[in-house]
Amino acid sequence: MIRVRVAPSPTGDPHVGTAYIALFNLCFARKMGGKFILRIEDTDQSRSTAESEQTILSSLKWMGLEWDEGPDVGGPHGPYRQSEREDIYAKYAHQLIDAGKAFYCYRTSDELDQMRAERREKGIQKAFKASDLQLPTAEIAERKLAGQKPVVRMVVPEEGLCKIQDRLRGEIELDWANVDAQILLKADGMPTYHLANVVDDHLMQITHVIRGEEWINSAPKHYLLYEYFGWDMPELCHMPLLRNPDKSKLSKRKNPTSINFYRDAGFLPEALLNYLGRMGWSMPDEAEKFSLTEMVEHFDIDKLSLGGPVFDQEKLRWLNGMWIREDLSADDFIQRYASWAFPPEKVKAIVPLIHERVETLADVAPLTALFFNSLPVLDEATFDQLKLDRETQVKVIQFVSWKLDSQVAWGRDDLYQSLSALAEAMDIKLRDFLQPLFVAMSGSTVCPPLFDTMAVLGPDLTRARFRHALDCLGGVSKKGAKKLEREFREF
Ligand code: GLU
Repeated sequence: MIRVRVAPSPTGDPHVGTAYIALFNLCFARKMGGKFILRIEDTDQSRSTAESEQTILSSLKWMGLEWDEGPDVGGPHGPYRQSEREDIYAKYAHQLIDAGKAFYCYRTSDELDQMRAERREKGIQKAFKASDLQLPTAEIAERKLAGQKPVVRMVVPEEGLCKIQDRLRGEIELDWANVDAQILLKADGMPTYHLANVVDDHLMQITHVIRGEEWINSAPKHYLLYEYFGWDMPELCHMPLLRNPDKSKLSKRKNPTSINFYRDAGFLPEALLNYLGRMGWSMPDEAEKFSLTEMVEHFDIDKLSLGGPVFDQEKLRWLNGMWIREDLSADDFIQRYASWAFPPEKVKAIVPLIHERVETLADVAPLTALFFNSLPVLDEATFDQLKLDRETQVKVIQFVSWKLDSQVAWGRDDLYQSLSALAEAMDIKLRDFLQPLFVAMSGSTVCPPLFDTMAVLGPDLTRARFRHALDCLGGVSKKGAKKLEREFREF
């Protein structure tokens, strides 16, 4: 029985790359009559949040991707959330220690940084092995006595070639000399990705690991763990990464990456799914437009293409237009549009913002247009009318953009607090500080109250608008961005 999984870490927005990997796993499982599992990899407790997990699950469902086993639907191999499986990993780590395949390590991260710096100075490029990390017995005893908690690391060969078989790429050779004695259990007892991932893939009887190519370098560690445990390794299939138009790895600085952005910007889930399908695979007849059912029917894992697929928003828009024209009847269209544009909680939030400013009902549409489009049309000249000079405007929008990248609480008051603190730190009057933000959000100098508007539009559209404004103002050069980043970090 084929069993595959997607294993997102709930540390941020639901990424289109997660949907892309989930889609290919699901197609393979459905085509082969197997099972598709969703596992939450939340062992990094400082970065994982329940909120992010919820959004990942709901956005994958919005796209029409359904799993057979997972934290919300259960299944015979649960729990499907790694934070609930802590004891399991500790048991396996200790098994490796007993077999001499893993060891306790009392080195501190400061020591490791220093060792790294020394090596850099000498021009030595070599991973840390057990032999590099050893400490005298007396020193270990002292650290133990002082209450220092050790990590558990795996023993890794000093040199030689590790040969990994990849179903899509054939044999991949990696040099053991570059592979660190990987931490398996952290000092707080939580496993790292590597241990948890291998143990769970084994216990959940995963037969094929279809994941992004950024994990290729982890494969030797996983290979070794399977060998140490005496388990069969699942077949590996490393998919090509989605790319920005400049071929760099798809990143939110250059392209919206959150699935919710595409939902809020008015894309249909069918079209987004279709587009992601096109990113690594073609229908036998090369048709551009196909449904999930059609993709499953014709899917062949050995026909995946490895070229770096470019995520091109214009192409996605074009495809989305085809779906809207060809697949929605007038009634479907009305129903889809109404539920996208006028969900009751959104309407409720907008009305108080314009109620006082309307003389006839006909005034509503122009006043609220900014809530129903994705990016406003911006005219550079509008920014010329503002109090701050252009350089300061760019700085304000850039700093706000960075600040909002890590803003989790998205209520009106949270946003007010966060941005007014930034204005103060930048020593700019709040009124002047807000002007370029108004223009970025609405395209004009008049706009409903800014923080309420941002709260209604939500994080994805708001962030995209600020990024769009920066592009419109000519963007920030790489060098300029470095300087600004340093300044920003000082606040
Ligand atoms: N948690 C990893 C991720 O976020 C899973 C990688 C894998 O599939 O092994 O992508």
